[in-house]
Amino acid sequence: MIAIYPGSFDPITRGHLDVIERGCRLFEQVIVVVFRNSSKSPLFTVPQRLDQIRRSTRHLPNLEVDSFDGLTVTYARLRQAKVLLRGLRVVSDFEMELQMAHTNKTLADDIETVFLATSTEYSFLSSSVVKEIARFGGPVDHLVPQAVAIDICKCYAKTLIASAPTTAEGSAPTTPEAPQIECLKKPHASGG
Ligand code: ADP
Repeated sequence: MIAIYPGSFDPITRGHLDVIERGCRLFEQVIVVVFRNSSKSPLFTVPQRLDQIRRSTRHLPNLEVDSFDGLTVTYARLRQAKVLLRGLRVVSDFEMELQMAHTNKTLADDIETVFLATSTEYSFLSSSVVKEIARFGGPVDHLVPQAVAIDICKCYAKTLIASAPTTAEGSAPTTPEAPQIECLKKPHASGG
């Protein structure tokens, strides 16, 4: 059976990766599909997100990565997928996810939404949390695959330089070209 795992993945986190790996054990094929979410202004472009997901999932032979602009059920039908895979973290996820599952059911009765409960260690983790930490130069390599942490670090380094804060007295920072960025707690090792 083919399952699709739709989402924004802006960027992919270790929580997403955990759902993907567990999905790959449950289904013959899993297709991660990056959708543009018009209500969110993204940090990474769709091609960048596809590349990040591909680099983080090379170890999964039954995984495919794709993008689509349209309804999730339209994509599922195109690929003969019978399952929409989603993750649940907290009660607040449930309301939105249930609404989406019911809506999709009205559009395609033959396609089922399957929820995987988050692994406890990732129950707090979202792409937004990662971006919030990185925005202030904090470490994120324990939250996202290594290749993604490097991308985030580069991305926010530019932003931090452009908007380096002034001191309490209002004077310019001493070294605006070298802000404190600690996106990587550990030294970089190649691979996901
Ligand atoms: P969307 O914008 O569609 O919510 P996301 O990329 O934020 O896309 O999330 C995609 C799916 O992954 C959602 O079902 C979300 O609940 C799930 N998810 C995100 N983070 C986690 C996590 N840490 N553990 C389990 N599921 C997660």
